[in-house]
Amino acid sequence: HAQGDPTVRVEALTVQFGDFAALQDLTLSAYPGEVVGVIGPNGAGKSTLVNAMTGMTPPAAGRIEMDGNQLLRQGPASRARRGMIRTFQTAQVFDSLSVERNLMLGRRRPGRRQAANGRSSEREVPVSLRHLLGRRGEQIGGGQRKMTELHRALAAEPRLLLLDEPVAGVPVADRKVVRQLLRQHVDQVGTTVLLIEHDMEFISGICDWLYVMAAGAVISQGPWDFVSNDPVVLEAYLGG
Ligand code: ADP
Ligand code: MG
Repeated sequence: HAQGDPTVRVEALTVQFGDFAALQDLTLSAYPGEVVGVIGPNGAGKSTLVNAMTGMTPPAAGRIEMDGNQLLRQGPASRARRGMIRTFQTAQVFDSLSVERNLMLGRRRPGRRQAANGRSSEREVPVSLRHLLGRRGEQIGGGQRKMTELHRALAAEPRLLLLDEPVAGVPVADRKVVRQLLRQHVDQVGTTVLLIEHDMEFISGICDWLYVMAAGAVISQGPWDFVSNDPVVLEAYLGG
């Protein structure tokens, strides 16, 4: 953590919903090739952070910089063009399109790496989704939707990937697959990942650095071994 220039830097970010500050003066960074975890009790502001970073929720104050560029005046589409790609806590899959079509929509340059017959080549389709390619989005289960959305996001070869609870509802056996897939992608493509997750086994096995949030602020940060033993963190989870 903290080597060279960050891929993304969030500085003193405040988000207000009326009188309520969902984020208060929040600062964090993620560096190239790093998997950064954001954990914290329900309502801490984790999803709000991702929404503000992608431009869906306008902040009241603060800065968001990606590769040194100030992003606050840019909308979600412009941030996506810079390589900022997200997934949602409730997976967003096109219900009326096939799983295969859903995956193809993620491609950075549509048409690239497609088989001659216009269908995606076998090789690039993840094993866990191969038997589902012909099903429509509305015909697959919650965990499969999460996997479809994740693979669609990875297909975009993001510079910065924001994942909101990627393994929530995903069977335990598949979580290991997701972890290996992310690690491999980060190491090979150099993607920076910011990951929100409640599954501590998953988090501890993949994150290089963790931020712990409570009530809209960062209350602790460091490697898993540090934050998981930090009394401030334990209190935030137990005290509510
Ligand atoms: P987390 O993802 O950490 O569980 P959220 O970011 O979803 O937390 O929510 C943080 C707080 O902000 C919660 O108290 C939530 O009720 C509130 N909140 C989130 N979105 C809105 C909104 N659009 N309007 C009002 N309050 C919101
Ligand atoms: Mg959330």
